[in-house]
Amino acid sequence: MADCDQGYFCEVCREYVDVVTESDLYLRFVMGLVMPEDLMRAVERHVRCRPSLAQYVVDPNFEPVLDPDPATDKRRQPEGSVRAMESLVTRAWRRLQELPGSGLSIAEYPLPEVDPSWRDASFEGADPTLWLMKKLGIVKVHEI
Ligand SMILES: [Zn+2]
Repeated sequence: MADCDQGYFCEVCREYVDVVTESDLYLRFVMGLVMPEDLMRAVERHVRCRPSLAQYVVDPNFEPVLDPDPATDKRRQPEGSVRAMESLVTRAWRRLQELPGSGLSIAEYPLPEVDPSWRDASFEGADPTLWLMKKLGIVKVHEI
């Protein structure tokens, strides 16, 4: 996916991630969780192959994903927390679907509210889903 015409194999299912609209890497980039320079070297996977994040995509065009991990399964989270995550991740996923043919440069992919301070030092090494939930005030820092 780094080059215009070359994708990468998914680190989870080993199938090819052949369109940007299925890319977990680009979904996280749209949310400001991946730096532009990391797009070229980061490990790729399908949106569906990260259930902790994919479970928050709520759209008629996306078959719902269930997260088997009790630590991140949204069915075990407070409803208000789930709504906040669904709002952000679904918005990012919809933007991802609009990117092909949009004419936007890669620098313009991230959501408008994403700014350079969004991904701070606490992100390094953190699970992206848990980090997001912390950022949105859903889980406490020590749980990460
Ligand atoms: Zn996959």
